Amino acid sequence: MDLPVIQHAKEICEQELRKALATGKQGGIEIFYQPFVHVGTGQVIGAEALTRWVHPLLGEISPRIFVPLAESNGLVAELDRFVLTVACRQAKRWLNTYGPIRIAINISPHSFQHADFVAVILNVLQETRLPPECLEIELTENIALRQEHTLSTFARLKGIGIKIAIDDFGTGYSSLNYLRMFPVDTLKIDQVFVQDVENSQQEVPITSAIIRLAHELNLQLVAEGVESEEQKNYLMQKDCFVMQGFLFSKPLPADQFEQFLQADVHSGLRRC
Ligand code: C2E
Ligand code: MG
Ligand code: MG
Ligand code: MG
Repeated sequence: MDLPVIQHAKEICEQELRKALATGKQGGIEIFYQPFVHVGTGQVIGAEALTRWVHPLLGEISPRIFVPLAESNGLVAELDRFVLTVACRQAKRWLNTYGPIRIAINISPHSFQHADFVAVILNVLQETRLPPECLEIELTENIALRQEHTLSTFARLKGIGIKIAIDDFGTGYSSLNYLRMFPVDTLKIDQVFVQDVENSQQEVPITSAIIRLAHELNLQLVAEGVESEEQKNYLMQKDCFVMQGFLFSKPLPADQFEQFLQADVHSGLRRC
């Protein structure tokens, strides 16, 4: 059980998060965008939305801290809805100006299992007028706890036309069963498997097996956490072309991310 002082600190953080969510950007919650790069063309094909919370006194708080906090007190559905709305609205503006784009949004298992999750997605798409095929939600493997509910939610989301990615693939406890049960579109290879690639000459069996698995199953692939040329070259050699990581860019505020889209237009890259 938590010590009273820790419990008290947690309650203060919860109140602060509630306040921040009610006021959005003014409350210090902001959405950053990390590019997905197609390394074959050099083109930025989209972005993952990643939430940042800068508290006036506590400074920057990592989502690895405040997302679990929001999950423990029922605020996460509100957080995810906020991110969905802001990021889809932003993506629609980019779509209008620069052409097709993919926007990926992390969804907590708590939000996904909420009875009105599909209605939330429909509302956001209607309100922002983003075409469903531009939206991808990222789920981790911890979701399949209530399988029947999960299956029907998957079916309804596929019916709407949005895409579903498995985030941090290979680190959960049910990866292969997950693929057998659920119609996902994309595997995101977790950064631990990318970091295993020290040297492009060396064979990295798990990383290359995940890539082959995605190819066999006709799934799209994104390699997360690419930090070096060696990692990039190894992945390319294995026919994994969509990447994300500090080698290309860290997550950026919307206006800075947009500079990638502008640069692609100026260099004549066709967006796909
Ligand atoms: P994730 O979805 O797996 O996101 C990838 C994390 O890796 C991000 O951390 C990103 O900044 C970081 N990253 C990207 N490239 C590199 C790299 O090259 N090297 C290294 N070392 N790290 C890299 P971040 O932004 O701190 O987010 C952490 C996690 O918090 C996310 O993991 C996601 O699970 C969760 N999260 C973030 N925003 C949201 C949100 O709006 N809703 C929900 N439910 N979860 C969120
Ligand atoms: Mg993610
Ligand atoms: Mg990930
Ligand atoms: Mg992760």
